[in-house]
Amino acid sequence: MRVTDPRLVELADIIDGKGHGQYGLSDINQRQHALQAALLAEQEDAGAALVTAALLHDIGHMVHDLGHDPAAAGIDDRHEELGHDWLVRWFGPEVTEPVRLHVAAKRYLCAVDPTYFGRLSRDSVTSLALQGGPMSPAEVAAFEALAEHAAAVRLRRWDEAAKVKDLPTPGFDHFSPYVAACLRAPDAR
Ligand code: FE
Repeated sequence: MRVTDPRLVELADIIDGKGHGQYGLSDINQRQHALQAALLAEQEDAGAALVTAALLHDIGHMVHDLGHDPAAAGIDDRHEELGHDWLVRWFGPEVTEPVRLHVAAKRYLCAVDPTYFGRLSRDSVTSLALQGGPMSPAEVAAFEALAEHAAAVRLRRWDEAAKVKDLPTPGFDHFSPYVAACLRAPDAR
């Protein structure tokens, strides 16, 4: 494990440092949400790329300054694009595509799974409208044609479940070997 890789240090600082912002309207903060999502992925033996994607899927919320709950102010922060663009420097598509598509996956599941909408948290319902609402049939077909769509749907279900107040989880260090396994070689682009 490359514990001294400065990218791991930076990621830990973001999750542990900036991760204390409230997660939307939930009773948990961004750090707890990230760690719960990663734990759910690990419990499903989802592999290093998806554990990493789950841990970092909302990093876009932590690398901008639109506040803790931009959706409440009527703003789609496009955090999935911000997160993707930030992570793509260091990770391949097996990590960055599920992150980029995790909001699309919500719009997808609202279109194809009649039970899904009822399980959305209040903040996810608020942001859904800003994000375009449920997908149209054409959008569903286009989404299903994407290579990482199934991974994005798995990530989305962990995202929805990772909002449990006071659930104990391991810290960032527990998940850092998964992250390290996915980091590009330092000189690779
Ligand atoms: Fe999330």
